[in-house]
Amino acid sequence: MQETNETKKDDLIVIGGAGGFIGGALARYFRDRGFTKIRAIDKKPLPEWYQRVPGVECLCLDLSHEENCKRACEDAVEVVNLAADMGGMGFIERFRVECLRSILINTHMIEAAYRAGAQRYFYSSSACAYNIDLQKDPNVRALKESDAYPANAERGYGWEKLVSEIFCQEYWQERGLKTSIARFHNVYGPDGTWDGGREKAPAAICRKVIQAKDEDTGSIEIWGDGTQTRSFMYIDDCVKGIDMIMHAENLIATPINLGSAELVTINELVSLAEACGGVKLKRSYKLDAPLGVAGRNSDNTMIKEMLGWEPDTPLRDGLAKTYEWIERQYMDRKAGKRTIS
Ligand code: NAD
Repeated sequence: MQETNETKKDDLIVIGGAGGFIGGALARYFRDRGFTKIRAIDKKPLPEWYQRVPGVECLCLDLSHEENCKRACEDAVEVVNLAADMGGMGFIERFRVECLRSILINTHMIEAAYRAGAQRYFYSSSACAYNIDLQKDPNVRALKESDAYPANAERGYGWEKLVSEIFCQEYWQERGLKTSIARFHNVYGPDGTWDGGREKAPAAICRKVIQAKDEDTGSIEIWGDGTQTRSFMYIDDCVKGIDMIMHAENLIATPINLGSAELVTINELVSLAEACGGVKLKRSYKLDAPLGVAGRNSDNTMIKEMLGWEPDTPLRDGLAKTYEWIERQYMDRKAGKRTIS
């Protein structure tokens, strides 16, 4: 964390959703920077957390309940809310009610943070908050922050994000709580979901390549026709970006993109994963699979202007590390060992 006048190494930082991918990485990031009081919270039982960071207080609480949010935020100086019921396209297109119900988490967490006298509150929004009419073509214009309005967000998940963003903006306007809002664009990396239905495209594709190699099938199934475009942000850039955004005085209550601007087609993503595995597979395209929008990229003009930085880990490098990690998970699972997905 960039140390500001207000942030001291023994200030209590609360992270909601810390049993998941980004929350686990963020707890580690803060701990590695010498912060001594970190409270990590997730509704999953502790043995199911993706990372348990030594020295971090871990609590198993369902943050959709007001009382649990009060407990979570006791004595908090900074609160980061990453807790949400979410997954890749397969999950968010099918389970819209679950996604919408995450509104309860932010609603109670921000009130609890405010009542506890926290100095800062961070909310993880998503590129799914953007108007879907602007994402119908794979040759997309990158999305800039103002493209969320007029609003026509992704059904379920995207609307929850948009409304929670507004909560954050009004807690600043009306009550003076310093809030930060980052719209994440597809995050990937080690220690994330890689199987089971909630995984996102980079992890799913790595797993399929690994499995095709292991079972010697010579083929891979791809959702859609492979021409959809996306950008993917490596986890190290994501946690660094969270830290920078939540401590930037010029970004209070201001939604900002946190994503990579390296646009690729899903076919290109598959080629990169194949290169990691040293194979070439026959591709079959599942055209009736959940696809999401045709194209989406992050316009990073604002983050470069405000922070003089943007997520810049090349996809090739981040994917190589992710592939290696998933391959170890895959082999561990095959050997009957415990894995995170
Ligand atoms: P994740 O699913 O790995 O982690 C989210 C965690 O929240 C899970 O461990 C889950 O158990 C927990 N959670 C859900 N409901 C809860 C509740 N009621 N109480 C307590 N914990 C609860 O997801 P992630 O990839 O780490 O995402 C973190 C945040 O970033 C989410 O808000 C997500 O919407 C947002 N986001 C992620 C991406 C991405 O590509 N990973 C993209 C855009 C936005």
